[in-house]
Amino acid sequence: MNRIDAPGTSEGEWRAWPGLAGLPLLDVSRWRNAVVVAAHPDDEVLGVGGLLAQLDIPVRLIAVTDGEKSHPHLPPAEITAVRRAETEAALAHLGDCEVHRLGMPDADVRDDELTPVLKELVRGFDVCLAPWEYDAHCDHEAAGRSALAAGAAGGVEVLRFPIWAWHWAKPADPAMPWADALRVPLTPDAAARKRAAIGCFTSQLGTILPPAIVEHFERDQEVLFR
Ligand SMILES: [Zn+2]
Repeated sequence: MNRIDAPGTSEGEWRAWPGLAGLPLLDVSRWRNAVVVAAHPDDEVLGVGGLLAQLDIPVRLIAVTDGEKSHPHLPPAEITAVRRAETEAALAHLGDCEVHRLGMPDADVRDDELTPVLKELVRGFDVCLAPWEYDAHCDHEAAGRSALAAGAAGGVEVLRFPIWAWHWAKPADPAMPWADALRVPLTPDAAARKRAAIGCFTSQLGTILPPAIVEHFERDQEVLFR
């Protein structure tokens, strides 16, 4: 069984760990704009939805896939339309965002295809936020690696956000780079807007995102790795 399908760590265990609240703060004061890479519709909201709600700067979202593999029994065009609409509804809670959809194949994102596209789309931005390259989901990892490569080529700082790691890792887990972790405290307003945004992903809630997973993303802070 892979780490995502195996039983995971409860949000109660994470909240009981003082290490999370003790992380240094991420300084966003010098950002004039930001670009976010999402492997699937919902990654951007789960990973940095609260941060996006708090930023008042131009934001570009790069949606790498449409997440069509989440419902393999449905025609891809049908689930693609559903998931695109869910993202649009979710983003409406978080502020203005320019969306680029790449339509790459879900569960089959390739670094050699994504990296050159990201090089063009992240150029000139102050910061790029992307899935963590060791998140244990192949698309998250490909998106993270490609973002790092694109950022390095263009001189753009890339911060990575864990998603599935909150499920499979444990507090103080040596698999996570805590020395490079920064936290973003969320205002009650930003946390509420993030919760509302998560609520838009009805095709995922209950099945792929059961309540025990969603709880990880209802915290009053987010964590990124530098
Ligand atoms: Zn994802």
